[in-house]
Amino acid sequence: MKFEEKFEKLVMETIEKNKLFIKKDKILLAISGGKDSLVNAYLLKKFGYDIYAIHIDLKIGKYSEKCREACEKICKENKIPLSIYDIKNEMGSSMCYIRAAVQSKHAGLSNCAICGVIKKWIMNKQARKLKAKVIVTGHNIDDEAQTFLMNIFKGSPELSSNTGPISKNIKEKKFIPRAKPLYYCLEEDIRKYSKLKGLPVIYEKCPCSGDSYRIQIRNFIEKRFEKEKANLIKSFEKLSKQIPKKEGSSINYCEKCGEPCRKNICKKCELVDLAIIG
Ligand code: AMP
Ligand code: ZN
Repeated sequence: MKFEEKFEKLVMETIEKNKLFIKKDKILLAISGGKDSLVNAYLLKKFGYDIYAIHIDLKIGKYSEKCREACEKICKENKIPLSIYDIKNEMGSSMCYIRAAVQSKHAGLSNCAICGVIKKWIMNKQARKLKAKVIVTGHNIDDEAQTFLMNIFKGSPELSSNTGPISKNIKEKKFIPRAKPLYYCLEEDIRKYSKLKGLPVIYEKCPCSGDSYRIQIRNFIEKRFEKEKANLIKSFEKLSKQIPKKEGSSINYCEKCGEPCRKNICKKCELVDLAIIG
């Protein structure tokens, strides 16, 4: 079987075997302009799913402009409805400003950690607005193996217990499940596929991601031999299934924004509103 067919079969099987979504489900597809999410956009459209894309324009200078253009291009070419969430219009400032304000109150929080919390909050809200059944992201097996190793280095392997192609730990109607059709795909295969299909991908990394612990872990893994990398991924697959699932603790609603969360105030409001509004 040709590489392309094998790759597409793996994604299709991941969707079907893990019951990520079905043809009649409305899907919110989060696209960044990077290879993973644009491959998702191309393939889910090709497979005939009912997808609506969202791109969060973080206003990180030229980098964000290029990402936004890439998302507009792929959606236009593949007739995918796209909504753009402009962070400056919606939240009043660029991600860079928000991040700096948060870090002035919470030293030690990485750029990516803050950005990740805000992006998840936006995605969940937008998915509910669209009445989407599921949010699709571009996470791949390399991302998941990095997270697994990061959790081990943190001394908290149990944090990997709820990992999988679909989030199923939280049963709450305001919380929209997140699905990962590329969960079993290797990063280098996704890159290869995106190039074969000539997708308008932005291959450069976010200029703000340099400080992240994830990048250190990625570099650490990159320096290993191919065999060791493959073994890490194998270990991740074997062990993550064996870690007992965490008991779902009760869900609250954020006192400020109403989003589902574990405490009285959600993580996004705790970080952003308290840092910016004071
Ligand atoms: P990251 O956390 O940057 O590794 O991204 C993981 C996934 O989140 C991507 O594959 C996308 O599905 C989604 N994502 C990241 N950045 C954005 C963005 N600016 N707008 C929409 N979705 C995004
Ligand atoms: Zn909140």
